[in-house]
Amino acid sequence: MDKIDYWIECAKTCCEEASIKVGDEQIKLMADVIKTSHENIGLAFGYVENPLIEENKTLKQKLQIEIDKVACHKCRGKGIITDSCGGITSISRCDKCDGDGKLSKHNI
Ligand SMILES: [Zn+2]
Repeated sequence: MDKIDYWIECAKTCCEEASIKVGDEQIKLMADVIKTSHENIGLAFGYVENPLIEENKTLKQKLQIEIDKVACHKCRGKGIITDSCGGITSISRCDKCDGDGKLSKHNI
């Protein structure tokens, strides 16, 4: 569940409890306001939510993307393509992995 989904559920519950009929668009607007209010609660009550928690989550997702990568089959993980023709060798960046040498499993 995404964080906004939590606040949407919260807004829906509030409206149901108060027997207020609102549309999905209004619920989403209410959820956005509640979410922003929640994020700023530290300003009102003198504490700050640890921003490292969200940063840690983002970094873990990026790390998992890197872990899930496999060696590019076109350049064999080197990131470059070497061609020899008539005694002349040319080196170019691998167009499959854009020189990274690795590919996401989803792009194979
Ligand atoms: Zn490659």
